[in-house]
Amino acid sequence: MSQLQRITIAPSQLQQGQILLTKEQQHYLLRVLRLRDGDRFIAMDGMGKWWLAQLATEQAQVLEPLSVATELSVSITLMVALPKGNAFDEVVRTCTELGVACIAPVLSDRTLLNPSPQKLERWRRIAAEAAEQSERAFVPTILEPVAFSTTLPLVNSQQYICEARGNFPHLRDCLQNKGQETIVIATGPEGGWTQTEIENAIAAGFQPVSLGRRILRAVTAPVVALTLISASFEV
Ligand code: SAH
Repeated sequence: MSQLQRITIAPSQLQQGQILLTKEQQHYLLRVLRLRDGDRFIAMDGMGKWWLAQLATEQAQVLEPLSVATELSVSITLMVALPKGNAFDEVVRTCTELGVACIAPVLSDRTLLNPSPQKLERWRRIAAEAAEQSERAFVPTILEPVAFSTTLPLVNSQQYICEARGNFPHLRDCLQNKGQETIVIATGPEGGWTQTEIENAIAAGFQPVSLGRRILRAVTAPVVALTLISASFEV
């Protein structure tokens, strides 16, 4: 199965056992991947379902549903303060590989960049590509950027905010496997969170945590956090 090429389709493209391919998907399958009629590939709906499909010109025939076991037993929402430039691309790519379910780009007190809608499109494309390459059953949701304060509070989940300084417990020692389905983890910008942001997060139920004694870059911290969580919850 792993040798087959994978594409992500919208659920509405699947009709009566046929996948109605978009022009872009036809181009990708026929011109970029050079598949021919009769060749097989995997279609993913980005929401947990995979199908083995067979190319038939402008559409594809669904041959059978496939089962995947590549998802973590928890749903991880990553709130990341937007780093400068294109650094977020790499955060999206790597965290998708590591199993994140949802990424919320956050505008924080020290990063007031408001990215263009094209950037959001780009991140969603990167997430879809990374999910395909990692054989994920889900393409992570990338939310519209929001101010950190407006995203608080969240309910019924373990919530952590990573803080580089201070004497906070290590994330590894805080993670609980108590049947809660969602973990929310927040990492800050290059300049760090402000004291007020940390206080507001604590008031909203976030536990401040450390990722170790070294100061990590804003793009490294999400990767370390996701790695620790996935190591704890891998089934
Ligand atoms: N310039 C800041 C550090 C910012 S690091 C300072 O000197 O204090 C960017 C973000 O990565 C931080 O806001 C935090 O969320 C996360 N981070 C980096 N290193 C960390 C560590 N050792 N423990 C927990 N979080 C860390």
